[in-house]
Amino acid sequence: MRRSDPSRGDDRLTERGSAPFRVPFIRPEFPTVAELAEDFQQIVEVNWFTNFGPRERDFADAISMYVGEEYHAVTFSNATIALIALLTTSLGRGDGTRSVIVASFTFAAGPEAIEWSGYRPLLVDLEPGSLQPSFASAQAALAERNDVAGILLTNTFGIGNPAIDAWESLAAEHGLPLLIDSAAGFGSEYPEGRRVGTAGDAEVFSFHATKPLAIGEGGAVVTRDGDLARRLREVTNFGFSAGVGATALGLNGKLQELNAAIGLRQLEKLDYVLRRRRDVLSRYVDVLGEAVEFPRLIERSSVCFATILLPSGQIRDRAHEALRRLGVEARVYYSPPVHVQPHFAGCETVGALSATEDVSHRALSVPAYQGLGSQDQDMIIDIIGAELRDSTGPMEEARR
Ligand SMILES: *Cc1c(COP(=O)(O)O)cnc(C)c1O
Repeated sequence: MRRSDPSRGDDRLTERGSAPFRVPFIRPEFPTVAELAEDFQQIVEVNWFTNFGPRERDFADAISMYVGEEYHAVTFSNATIALIALLTTSLGRGDGTRSVIVASFTFAAGPEAIEWSGYRPLLVDLEPGSLQPSFASAQAALAERNDVAGILLTNTFGIGNPAIDAWESLAAEHGLPLLIDSAAGFGSEYPEGRRVGTAGDAEVFSFHATKPLAIGEGGAVVTRDGDLARRLREVTNFGFSAGVGATALGLNGKLQELNAAIGLRQLEKLDYVLRRRRDVLSRYVDVLGEAVEFPRLIERSSVCFATILLPSGQIRDRAHEALRRLGVEARVYYSPPVHVQPHFAGCETVGALSATEDVSHRALSVPAYQGLGSQDQDMIIDIIGAELRDSTGPMEEARR
């Protein structure tokens, strides 16, 4: 049996280990070995490895300072645990009968966190121009139902929602918490330069190795509500309050000192990372912008990657395949969207999710990381450009 052959190891590792892509989808830049050795040496000297040590405190302060002076940051071991802690703290643990509104066009972690918190994901469609959750769908659901406990707004691909003010008003009008999954969006902006992290009741960031602020595994909740921040800090440490033990249903979601130390170094480079990523994106927009669509406000985002909406699913699939053939790794986020994935088959949707299905067939996400060379950028542009030309020129006639 192949699986038991130790020389092959795990299939997934074999596939990754062989590194078939000359240009990977994402290549994080971590601190150097010398820098990490220095950080680790100090952590060992202080003899404080986790449990809100000096690095974690500095990192949490730096995160909140970046978002805005009056904000608090609570760090977590990853964003999924942060989402569960936030949902259960903000809404209380559900008994499986009430719903939380969330888009189907998102990463599964959001709807999964809703379920772990005891709620049912109520899946809404997306807005075609921005790929953000459909405001009209959420509005309709709230007008018709009385089982909605809250809204988990997902900032798609970490891009700030252009209609954030309307969402805040909608949640306030219905007296519901507005919790925001901004996992890939540390460094992004809403309209008028308002920083992502400042909206709703709280926003959640991921510092996973694939995100623009990459520390390996890590996450944070940012909120203006000091009491919510205090309760979250307790929840992430087994629900312990000083002196009395557990006062809430807690878990262990603490960020380790070494990851916090990496985070402090990554924050120093953030301006450079954002500038480079936005430069790569603007190159794509300059050359391809006439023929394809980019999500609204992506240019003010931290550009986790560049998502391009192609005119048809056929062209998307051909471009994806052409990139793969030439050694460029692209991805088809979010395909399948949440409501099509087997685990979520029983989830309720607000009407048909036709825009979500259309976009999931036409969207192609391509590399835009800070170290992507200009020749590789040109190659990506050329490959996509060639597929677009083929599809509109005589070649397409011949194909039909
Ligand atoms: C990456 C991501 C997450 C999960 O973050 P982790 O830190 O890996 O748990 C959740 N939601 C969205 C939208 C993401 O992109």
